[in-house]
Amino acid sequence: SQLPWADPHDSALFGDTHHAANATQRQNATLLMLARNSDTDNAVRSVRELEDKFNKKFGYPWVFLNEEEFSEEFKRRVSNVISGPVSFGQIPHDHWYQPDFIDEAKASAAREQMIKDNIIYGGSVSYRNMCRFNSGFFYRHELLQKYKWYWRVEPDVHFHCDIDSDPFKFMEDNNKIYGFTITMYEYHATIPTMWDTVTRFTRENPQYVHPNNAMAYISDNGGESYNLCHFWSNFEIASMDFWRGEVYSKFFDYLDATGGFYYERWGDAPVHSLGVTLFADKDQIHFFDDIGYEHNPYVHCPRQSGNWEKGKCACNPERSFDFDGYSCMRQWERIW
Ligand code: GDP
Ligand code: MN
Repeated sequence: SQLPWADPHDSALFGDTHHAANATQRQNATLLMLARNSDTDNAVRSVRELEDKFNKKFGYPWVFLNEEEFSEEFKRRVSNVISGPVSFGQIPHDHWYQPDFIDEAKASAAREQMIKDNIIYGGSVSYRNMCRFNSGFFYRHELLQKYKWYWRVEPDVHFHCDIDSDPFKFMEDNNKIYGFTITMYEYHATIPTMWDTVTRFTRENPQYVHPNNAMAYISDNGGESYNLCHFWSNFEIASMDFWRGEVYSKFFDYLDATGGFYYERWGDAPVHSLGVTLFADKDQIHFFDDIGYEHNPYVHCPRQSGNWEKGKCACNPERSFDFDGYSCMRQWERIW
């Protein structure tokens, strides 16, 4: 997709001259999408929107990952809407598929029960592979090794406002490690033993719990039980250094060893959220009010002073998910 003679880090070529100053301060970051070949149409639409609203001014690279080889059509159509560098990677087998230590009879019995109980994706093995990959493996992919920051983008999402200042630079300059736009409750039935497992881990490793953690956001009773609040991880702007670090690595391995990704249906959203809220400083978690974001069926529309006007947002701020009864914005705000 790149012009063969163009240096993707040449700010005079990528982004107009008004934004050249932004581009010269580009962070060590990438835009990241996990997708299937069957997601091509929706992937192209998401990429095109983020390019229009943000990346044409900054020229960050894109990385696409898939457990299968990307089709020529996927690569051609995605590359067509990207101005800067782009790469397509295949996920190593062991980072994706159900590991051998999982008792398949037990796992399939759990899936059957979840189908009966009508739990979303309850019968799906591939969804479980995806959740485990996003929890503990994506940041180990060779194409991501050179980057510190990523912005997770999914097929079929929408960005409703102009993003004129660089969120990666904001994260770097303000010592943040995790940024979100939507927070909500998880379905308890997908993670029945997760909190007990996490509690066992923190009892065995009390030194890992950050003294300025965000426990008051994830628990209504001082840590006795989990209130199911989490950051909706289909949008994330975050540091891979945190996931790659000792504390989160031990945490992920501990969770993974219980088989909960397959015996239950643990999502990467609660895993990331519990990791970051317990083991990081809560001041390092950032709510990006100014990024208008939609993933069906929910929209976050900027609501804080002037953000909606500044971003020329197309969304209706009164319909922002922040005000929904199912939002965890109340729990987030009470910790400040
Ligand atoms: P939901 O948002 O929880 O409903 O789940 P999605 O279907 O949107 O999946 C989450 C992300 O993982 C999206 O980026 C999907 O494209 C991707 N994804 C889900 N399942 C698979 C899969 O089996 N293979 C690949 N390569 N990507 C997947
Ligand atoms: Mn999705």
